[in-house]
Amino acid sequence: MPAKRLLSDIVSLTPSNYEDFTRCARLFYCNALLGLPASDPAPSTDQGLLVHDMLRKIHVDGDCYDGDHVAETLIAHGFDTPAVRDMVARHADRCPSRASEHAAHEVDVARFHRLPPPMFMATARIDAVWIHDGLVDARDYKTGGKWVDAVSEIKAAHVQAFVLAARARAGGYRLRLRYEYLQPEVDEDPEYWELDDEALEAVEEELRAAVERMWLEDDWKGVNEIDVCRTCRYRSICRDSAAPGEPAWPVLSTDPTEPDR
Ligand SMILES: [Zn+2]
Repeated sequence: MPAKRLLSDIVSLTPSNYEDFTRCARLFYCNALLGLPASDPAPSTDQGLLVHDMLRKIHVDGDCYDGDHVAETLIAHGFDTPAVRDMVARHADRCPSRASEHAAHEVDVARFHRLPPPMFMATARIDAVWIHDGLVDARDYKTGGKWVDAVSEIKAAHVQAFVLAARARAGGYRLRLRYEYLQPEVDEDPEYWELDDEALEAVEEELRAAVERMWLEDDWKGVNEIDVCRTCRYRSICRDSAAPGEPAWPVLSTDPTEPDR
């Protein structure tokens, strides 16, 4: 069966699978189309998930700049550690909540593209959306390292912008995307991205063209570039890897000299 049949009629785009596709077609194939477990898992993201969860809880029934409320929430969930407290404080410095008319947390947003073909459905979970000063101010909380100077350089942000754009426009708001880097090692957030109609149209066309390239793929060849491959979570099982390693999966030995054979 040709691999492209794995694409559904309406291709599903998410911030992370689009990021994958722009790095390497085979990465997208392994993850989004085959759903393979990582052979080379990335370091645990437990703390990142925890911080996201705590930030949502803190905002739902109080304010992130209210030290007592933050302490109570963290203690109640058993996560009152200096690292978590520090990340919440770093968020609070940048939080627009005091000026906001409306806020929502961990918002699932979807948007369909029909024409020109091919069709696709983009979905994204947005960490926080604040409405203030005529803006939809969408935030993505980051707990890892920073690799770029501007949000516009982050491919995942292009899908986020696309899904948020229709809502922002319908409400007569401008759209701004900001990534908050909560690790103390990161001094400055990348420059936020404010998109006008022209930029939003360019983003939609960029995504459409990417889905078109997916339909033209025959063999989902890997990029075979050391900088991409060495951190890839499928590098040990990829036929095209420039940096193969040992899979973390349990593998049965095929060495006939081993005693258990
Ligand atoms: Zn806040």
